[in-house]
Amino acid sequence: MRRKIVAGNWKMNKDFESGIDLIEDIVELLDENPAGEVNVVLAPPYTHLQSAVEMLIDNKDISVSAQNCHHEKGGAYTGEISVEMLNSIGVDAVIIGHSERREYFAETNEQLAKKVNLALEQEMIPIFCCGEVLDERKANKHFEVVEKQIKESLFHLSAEQFDNVVIAYEPVWAIGTGETASPEQAQEIHAFIRTTVEKQYGAEVANDLSILYGGSCKPSNSKELFAKPDVDGGLIGGAALNAQDFVAIIHSF
Ligand code: PEP
Repeated sequence: MRRKIVAGNWKMNKDFESGIDLIEDIVELLDENPAGEVNVVLAPPYTHLQSAVEMLIDNKDISVSAQNCHHEKGGAYTGEISVEMLNSIGVDAVIIGHSERREYFAETNEQLAKKVNLALEQEMIPIFCCGEVLDERKANKHFEVVEKQIKESLFHLSAEQFDNVVIAYEPVWAIGTGETASPEQAQEIHAFIRTTVEKQYGAEVANDLSILYGGSCKPSNSKELFAKPDVDGGLIGGAALNAQDFVAIIHSF
């Protein structure tokens, strides 16, 4: 089902205590002014996940996501975390293919496809990230870049499986830079993503897909972005580290 989603990707920020404080502050603000029909997702670092799940166990509006997982099921991968481990502590979703993972950890579309499979096997929601770098945008290649990322990591799925996927379009040139895609640029590529999905899976699956925008989304621009018909919410980095800003973004729908 197509849902409105606002997800906060904390990245490698917040020690344990300040992370717990941030969750408490978000819960308190949403108690005062509920999220309504918006699904809120928090993606803190691995060290915070179990506590986050426990704190939010009775909270129907907020779910917990990991920021990554390994592409193999388990075994000799020192320092890594499997999807099965995440599922075993009650994590609901996992961000897959964030541009920082693609860039700094050389993650390939093929590895990301494996991660997506493992997440779905564990009945977790993959929040699959795609997006072009600045040179690709300048060369007007953003459509083909995004299409390739989606095709190579997602289009092996059945329509039934694809129904559980969330896509986040994140232009790399807008992540953490203060630059944002204009609402028109976001709408243009979100509509393109939906059409690409429609060609593969049909109108019903495409219409049910939630496509989030990410890239310097903040309270001052979220309303305009979320007003676009194919923008179903946001994947928020920097502004998710401040409870007031994050909750303001949730309320900008
Ligand atoms: C992100 O990293 O997913 C992101 C969108 O970051 P920021 O909001 O800080 O640009």
